[in-house]
Amino acid sequence: MTGTLTNWAGNITYTAEELHRPASLDALRALVARSSRVRVLGSGHSFNRIAEPGPGGVLLSLTALAPEIDVDTADRTVRVSGGVRYAELARAVHAKGFALHNMASLPHISVAGSVATGTHGSGIANGSLASAVREVELVTADGSTLTIGRGDDRFDGAVTALGALGVVTALTLDVEPDFEVSQHVFTELPLEGLDFETVAASAYSVSLFTDWGRPGFRQVWLKRRTDRPLADFPWAEPAAEAMHPVPGMPARNCTEQFGVPGPWHERLPHFRAEFTPSSGSELQSEYLLARTDALAALHALDAIRGTIAPLLQICEVRTVAADRQWLSPAYGRDTVALHFTWVDDTEAVLPVVRGVERALEPFAPRPHWGKVFAVPPTTLRERYARLPDFRALVDGLDPAGTFTNAFVEDLLPPRS
Ligand SMILES: Cc1cc2nc3c(=O)[nH]c(=O)nc-3n(C[C@H](O)[C@H](O)[C@H](O)COP(=O)(O)OP(=O)(O)OC[C@H]3O[C@@H](n4cnc5c(N)ncnc54)[C@H](O)[C@@H]3O)c2cc1C
Repeated sequence: MTGTLTNWAGNITYTAEELHRPASLDALRALVARSSRVRVLGSGHSFNRIAEPGPGGVLLSLTALAPEIDVDTADRTVRVSGGVRYAELARAVHAKGFALHNMASLPHISVAGSVATGTHGSGIANGSLASAVREVELVTADGSTLTIGRGDDRFDGAVTALGALGVVTALTLDVEPDFEVSQHVFTELPLEGLDFETVAASAYSVSLFTDWGRPGFRQVWLKRRTDRPLADFPWAEPAAEAMHPVPGMPARNCTEQFGVPGPWHERLPHFRAEFTPSSGSELQSEYLLARTDALAALHALDAIRGTIAPLLQICEVRTVAADRQWLSPAYGRDTVALHFTWVDDTEAVLPVVRGVERALEPFAPRPHWGKVFAVPPTTLRERYARLPDFRALVDGLDPAGTFTNAFVEDLLPPRS
């Protein structure tokens, strides 16, 4: 039956007729080897056609493979199989006395799908989730296996790779000693006079939220490591009650607040694993640009807030440390990430997305690969200096284009 497979948000219906779920690595390798077009679906939390295999292509899920999570305490790494989600990984890593450096706003997403799109949390010193990856294990187009680790010339193209190199069957990630985090929410931070750098550096992870209904930020979420010195936050008042970033949504869906210390994986995400994250009925867009442009970009958005606010559920501002992955939206520049949770209405939202992109144009923003955007491929190519290297990597590993799709093909520069 066609037309029944959708992403988490329900705004994308994949053309694939079925979701193939091989139950062993050998079955997976055989399926890939006999297929001319394959894409993997992770947990389906992307908002665009990045996972779409195209007509006649195979859409593949790793959820029937036995999940593997092996913490190597001596090496300080964890090897995790391709279908595992962060919630499961985080619990296992914590149980062994270790931590991941950061998490996204929700733990429901698959690790392989997240690092493939450059998914990130917040924190001026925290790289994207892909920056923790040390090794990638792939099944390539002929069904053979390949491991690419740090130090390999191909590594910087191999983690945030948009699913274009092969099936990621396992990843090895750095872990660090377990730590605790306390979460504090403040309300009404003015935009006027904002010292963005100081505010963004005032805790391990900082998020600013606004509805753009009026100037300034409705909420500020600070995630403080309890093993680091405590910085004051004199710019806004502490919240009087537990908060959800999206107006009208219940605070019990969110991780614990009011400074109660807890394990890193129960504070770094905003949303609890056992509840629906965010609002559940939404579209999302996000633009990543140089952190030094944060204030100017926020003022550019403030200038068009009258057009943003009616379609917006909430906007979140975070920071991401520069990294080396060629296709990472944080490649080579310390970054501010401007995120928009829109209402669930593609037709109404797209013109506003284009308006946001026009307002941010002077800052050469790179859109989040997993969210809604309208930036044309020709412009994207100007924003990713290493795309020719990525094209060469794709051509070398997948000459017949088994793992390509329209999303990737549009992006890649023409073959020289
Ligand atoms: C409610 C909500 C909150 C979010 N919060 C954040 C946030 O805080 N920060 C942020 O940066 N993003 C956030 N996102 C976006 C999300 O992290 C990304 O869309 C991410 O890619 C989701 O992972 P996934 O497994 O669902 O990926 P999918 O959408 O399933 O796939 C994404 C890409 O990865 C590829 N892929 C997946 N698994 C494999 C594999 N095993 N091998 C090869 N390729 C693979 C797919 O083919 C596709 O190209 C959020 C999304 C939602 C819905």
